[in-house]
Amino acid sequence: MINTSTDLYCVLGWPVGHSKSPLIHNRAFADQKINAVYLAFEPRDIGSAVESVRTLQIKGASVTIPFKESVMTHLDWIDEEALGIGAVNTLVNKNGKLLGYNTDSKAAVDPLKPFGIKDKTVCIIGAGGAAKAVAYGIWKHQGRLVITNRTVQKGRDLADRFQGRFVLPQDLKSLDPDIVINTTSLGMEPDIDQMAYPARLLKPGMVVMDAVYTPLNTGLISAAREKGCDVIDGLSMFIAQGAAQFRLWTGIEPDLEILRKTVLENR
Ligand code: NAP
Repeated sequence: MINTSTDLYCVLGWPVGHSKSPLIHNRAFADQKINAVYLAFEPRDIGSAVESVRTLQIKGASVTIPFKESVMTHLDWIDEEALGIGAVNTLVNKNGKLLGYNTDSKAAVDPLKPFGIKDKTVCIIGAGGAAKAVAYGIWKHQGRLVITNRTVQKGRDLADRFQGRFVLPQDLKSLDPDIVINTTSLGMEPDIDQMAYPARLLKPGMVVMDAVYTPLNTGLISAAREKGCDVIDGLSMFIAQGAAQFRLWTGIEPDLEILRKTVLENR
C-alpha cells in the first residue's frame, strides 16, 4: 500500500516509454515486501532532474539514454568502474549525497565468465554507450578486444581506449572471434531483419551475445542457435544490470528468474 512512508525510485531517460525497468523493480520491491515504488520520468534536462532527485529525496534512480554520460557532472561521487567506463546508469541517494555507479559492464561480463574471457578474441559490434561498458569489462578480464562500428572514428577511439583493435565492418571475414557481442540497435523492433554480424561467419562453438532484447530472439540469436553457437540473449543482460541496481539500493539479491518471467509475461 502506498502511504507517506513509501520510498520513491525512478528511471530518468528520454524516451522511456519502452522501458521494462519499472516492471522488474516494482516486482522486486513487492516480492521483498519493501514499501517503495519505481516510476519512469522523461526530463528534458538531466541537471534539473538530478536536483529533483535531491529535493524530493528520491532514494535511487536508473539513468538511461541519453543521460548516462551527462549525468556524471551533477553527482557527488562516482565509483571507479563507472569512471573507467565513462558512464553512470545508477544513482544511489545516500543521506542526501548522490553516488553514481554503472551496472552494465558486470551484467554483460558475468554471463561470459563460464566460457572464459582471458586471451579470447572478443568482437564487439558498436561503439556507443553499451559498447563502452562491455569493452571495459572485456579489457578488465584481459580479453583480446576487437571493435567494429559503422562510424569508423568512434570505433577506433573505443578500441584505442581499451587496448583493442578496430576492424571495418566489411573486413569481419578476416576475423575468427571466440565471442561476438552485438551492442548496436541492429535487429531491434521494428527492424528485426537487420543483422549486426553476418550469419555466414558464425561457427559452432562461438559464444554470441546480443544486447538487444526486443525481440528476445533476435535474428542474430536465432542464426547463432542454428549454427550451434552458445547464445546469451539481451534479456539476461537487462535483468542482471537491474538486479545489480536493486542490490545497490536495498542490499538484497532479487530472484533473477522471477524478474525474467515478469518481463516475458508483460511483453
Ligand atoms: P548508442 O549509444 O546510441 O549506440 C548505438 C550504436 O549502434 C552505435 O555504435 C551506432 O553506430 C550503432 N548503430 C545504430 N544504428 C545503426 C545502423 N543502422 N547500422 C549500424 N550501426 C548502427 O546506444 P546504446 O546505449 O549503446 O544501446 C545500443 C543497444 O543496446 C540498444 O538496442 C539498447 O536497447 C541495447 N542495450 C541493452 C542493454 C541490456 O541490458 N540488454 C543495456 C544497454 C543497451 P554509430 O556509432 O555509427 O552511430
